Amino acid sequence: MFHSEYVEKVYRNLCEKNAHEVEFLQAAEEILSSLEPYVEKHPEIEKEKILERFVEPERLIQFRVSWVDDRGEVQVNRGYRVQFNSAIGPYKGGLRFHPTVNASIIKFLGLEQVLKNSLTSLSMGGGKGGSDFDPKGKSDREIMAFCQAFMTELYRHIGPDTDVPAGDIGVGGREIGYLYGQYKKIRNEFVGVLTGKGLTYGGSLVRTEATGYGLCYFAEAALKQLKNESFQGKTVVISGSGNVAIYACAKATELGAKVVAMSDSNGYIYDAEGIRLDVVRQIKEVRRGRIKEYLNEVPQAVYCDRSQEIWTLPCDIALPCATQNEIDLDHAKILVEHGVLAVCEGANMPSTLEASRYFIEHRIVYGPAKAANAGGVATSGLEMSQNSQRCSWSFSEVDQKLKEIMVRIFNNAYETAKELGNPYDLLTGANIAGFEKVCTAMLSQGV
Ligand code: NDP
Repeated sequence: MFHSEYVEKVYRNLCEKNAHEVEFLQAAEEILSSLEPYVEKHPEIEKEKILERFVEPERLIQFRVSWVDDRGEVQVNRGYRVQFNSAIGPYKGGLRFHPTVNASIIKFLGLEQVLKNSLTSLSMGGGKGGSDFDPKGKSDREIMAFCQAFMTELYRHIGPDTDVPAGDIGVGGREIGYLYGQYKKIRNEFVGVLTGKGLTYGGSLVRTEATGYGLCYFAEAALKQLKNESFQGKTVVISGSGNVAIYACAKATELGAKVVAMSDSNGYIYDAEGIRLDVVRQIKEVRRGRIKEYLNEVPQAVYCDRSQEIWTLPCDIALPCATQNEIDLDHAKILVEHGVLAVCEGANMPSTLEASRYFIEHRIVYGPAKAANAGGVATSGLEMSQNSQRCSWSFSEVDQKLKEIMVRIFNNAYETAKELGNPYDLLTGANIAGFEKVCTAMLSQGV
């Protein structure tokens, strides 16, 4: 599996220590295997045990979150925050509220975040957090009660120069508002301790749109460089219908593509005429309903109740924006057989390792998550800058900065991949480009 004995040893030790953490080991394997060419050229990495340190989080915090539901019953959930690496800046990364959340998921997301944040070229270390709380079907009051209870534990570990959480699956503007309100009550401080805030209390324009828009800016740059192509006239399939998916759909459409399918965890909709995003937004953002309800407004659309089968639909560009491991090798083979040009990842680790290797082998424009979806955290970084300067930039100013960052991330990953002999291997390119800065900082800072 590995060429280098040292890297293999690091991975084996990690497996022994974290035997049941499947997602974390998957992310670590992907990263470690692509770092091998860099590690071989830099013997100081082995000497100073940089890889051993890099895969071990600086801190993993787990806490009880107890709260009272609408029936007056006490509910108990588990909260997490992993403070993975602070070599290049304060910890930064989202919070996920979803019943599947556990230490393995949070650690895989945290490890990915370290490299992603480094790629943005802003000064942010990597962290991630969340809870196994399921926001689906909860009243607004229950969401508030949970967020307040969660922050009552989390507040002691975070701060504007220590650790700055944001949103992720199940955590959007509403949840960030409740979390921020509670932090402020406890600390009596109005500071930029969270990003993704509302515009009336320190949020940045474009933060809501940033991950989806950034994904399309990345894909557009990659399509141009590798295939001399663009979104214009292309058919696009997007999984998910949450924050990332919605704004990816908006930008892909603006760039001239037709998005024909979107999904949620219950199923997908296919609309040959092009998805009507106003209908999806009404269902998802206003009513918090199910994607199936699209058929009430657009009866000619088709609904399928197996969400992962969305990848069997023919398309030119695939944008997975739902969750991890949603594209396996079989899906990858079908996509390639159907002539897909590009697969760019809005979600974190949506392709299995086998699927991503298959895309690279077949010279598909494959945009790995840590590069392609870095627009969200990059704009969070811009929100932090605005908060410290107590100013706010215009929509077009932030959008322009986001575009420049995404193009720079692509160029960085592409140049590194090209130097190593395969310009399509943006996965290795992104991993090495992100690692280089973190590694140099770790070496300079001692043990
Ligand atoms: P949201 O909660 O807004 O939306 C998540 C979407 O994915 C929903 O449509 C949801 O469907 C679907 N989904 C979630 N879990 C599953 C599952 N197990 N199977 C199928 N569909 C599922 O989250 P975001 O849009 O913010 O996040 C989506 C992805 O993007 C995640 O991987 C996240 O880590 C990543 N990401 C998000 C960033 C951000 O800025 N928000 C930044 C970078 C990456 P349902 O409603 O049925 O649950």
